[in-house]
Amino acid sequence: MSVNQEKEFCNKKFKEAIVYARRKDVKNCRSALFVVMESLLKISYQLKGNEKTECEEKIKFILEMAKTIANEGFTDDVMFNLTGELPKKEVVEKKEIVEEQIAQPTEIEDEEEFEDNKTNNPLRPTRLRDYVGQDKIKRPLAEAILAARTKQTSLDHVLLFGSAGLGKTTLARIIANEMKSNIIVMNGPTIKDTNDFIKNIKQLKENDIVFIDEIHRISTSAAESIYTAMEDFKLSYIRNDGKNVEMDLPKFTLIGATTHSGLLEKPMRDRFALQFRLEPYSVDVLTQLGVKSFEKLGFNISEADMKNIAKRSRGVPRICNGFIKRISDKALIRNTNVIDKKIIEEYFIDNEIDSLGLNAGDIHLLKTIINKFNGGPVGLDTLASATGEGKNIIENQYEPYLIYLGFINITQNGRVATEQAYKHLKIEKY
Ligand code: ADP
Repeated sequence: MSVNQEKEFCNKKFKEAIVYARRKDVKNCRSALFVVMESLLKISYQLKGNEKTECEEKIKFILEMAKTIANEGFTDDVMFNLTGELPKKEVVEKKEIVEEQIAQPTEIEDEEEFEDNKTNNPLRPTRLRDYVGQDKIKRPLAEAILAARTKQTSLDHVLLFGSAGLGKTTLARIIANEMKSNIIVMNGPTIKDTNDFIKNIKQLKENDIVFIDEIHRISTSAAESIYTAMEDFKLSYIRNDGKNVEMDLPKFTLIGATTHSGLLEKPMRDRFALQFRLEPYSVDVLTQLGVKSFEKLGFNISEADMKNIAKRSRGVPRICNGFIKRISDKALIRNTNVIDKKIIEEYFIDNEIDSLGLNAGDIHLLKTIINKFNGGPVGLDTLASATGEGKNIIENQYEPYLIYLGFINITQNGRVATEQAYKHLKIEKY
């Protein structure tokens, strides 16, 4: 094809991309943009100087757009770049929609569709029925939500505990959605006194949800006021003029999230009528979750290949989704929406992640116990100085998964590497 013919073809494909964008068709729009990119590449080979530079800039620009579409959908920016117009805000009519089960066998009535437009995270499920796994939690939670909604009262206070990335925040947002309530989100470390809490709940209404992440990190004085508020829906605090005042609060639900329930003072812990421990996810459940995540981003993957990613995700959806985002970026650059073994393996090799999801840090920790301390036992302080890692990092980042895999045991005398660890690292035990 001559340059002019190629330019004509390129324009035609770009117009097609615009049509797909207007239809909000992620898959076809992205594919059309890739054809545009290829065509621009061919054109750029035949150009020189400024024209060539301009053409290369266009290629980068199109690639960025294709990436955004895959990750965030048709944002206002993308629509403007593609069509030259900003999308008109659609007036969504509230309509009764057919009842769908959120969690077997409990059903919660549904009147509106929910969108996760508050968090901008396309991979975060918004309904309990889409929350994968954690079956032991979903049934009692669905029942409690249904009961509260039937009685038109606030839901009992909920404590969620489990390691980072297991889905506590997601679940809190889902509860708010299912209760059709507003959610106020706070972070424990930012609540240094009662006033910090008050500042955040100014808009609090009956049945609203207050979510405090890392609730064990709020100050003692704030904790005391909050657990009184949980019980009596009253809050006493010292006003600027030094007077002690009491304010009435609407009936609300506090959802607290923490990594270990033991980190909370007993009086506060006892005020959570509903307490749920989130467990690490099995490979099968993460496979299910991962196939859906890829689908949401516009990619296809076989279950067998997804299993390969799930196996390395340490039982944690956040890690699994992190891999998925990066692997889909890799596929995007290669102009394919099919994720195959080759792309997956390449990603894990480049990032030094082994078949079970152990990274260089985990391996270093295990090898230190095995090689320097003859397999242990070795105390946490000694291990921290031998590896150069903080005690906190060892305890919270490395150990939970190594213990889960059965690679280390914590004994009274310290950490011990198990037979399985030797086997996995192919080290002979003497
Ligand atoms: P936490 O608050 O426990 O640190 P998050 O709720 O932020 O974890 O979850 C991390 C990510 O993992 C979320 O963005 C969400 O997309 C995903 N995720 C977590 N749990 C689930 C689940 N059960 N089903 C589907 N996706 C999940």
